[in-house]
Amino acid sequence: MMQVRVSGKTITLVQGDITHQDVDAIVNAANKTLLGGGGVDGAIHRAAGPELLQECKRIRQEVLGGAYVETAQPVMTGGYRLKARHVIHVVGPICRIDPHPDRLLRLAYWNSLQLAANAGLQSVAFPSISTGAFGCDVRWASGIALSTIVDFLNQSSKQELSATDRLNEVRMVLFTRADYDVYAETLRELIKGTN
Ligand code: ADP
Repeated sequence: MMQVRVSGKTITLVQGDITHQDVDAIVNAANKTLLGGGGVDGAIHRAAGPELLQECKRIRQEVLGGAYVETAQPVMTGGYRLKARHVIHVVGPICRIDPHPDRLLRLAYWNSLQLAANAGLQSVAFPSISTGAFGCDVRWASGIALSTIVDFLNQSSKQELSATDRLNEVRMVLFTRADYDVYAETLRELIKGTN
């Protein structure tokens, strides 16, 4: 585990399973259908139980009018059988298909953090979005993920009395040791530049 402080808030890196995290919300690397899939999406649906899929279906129909969710536009649901009370579903870019995957990945993290902060949540955990089925390079993605989190925490601390003041821990949960090592190295480089 690795923890760093940024503007009085904590960024945590852990190796593990995101479905086991005791945080206010976990983020799901979803797909455009919002109806589950493989990878971390499948794991979250299995752990949360069938009520999660029911809510996702309802949102697809009633909120989105049957349309796909846009890349980087997060949707929040309950957490059901998870320890986390909420799941924030966000679609990351598909590398080598989507134009500007760098901007889209940054926006996926940023908008998810904003949604969590606006909901008054104190802690949120992310998987490594887009580095599984969506084919993005882990080192590249780690730079975008971590710099976006650092920027978000720095800017929210400057907004006096903002709702974002309550968000005090952002956790990255890396499924493999290899991914954890890459994220840890990226975070060390990033804070070397700022502290
Ligand atoms: P995407 O379609 O955004 O690439 P994937 O689910 O295929 O999403 O992969 C994203 C990352 O999630 C990968 O690094 C994968 O190893 C990781 N992952 C898979 N299962 C879990 C889990 N239970 N907890 C945390 N991360 C997971």
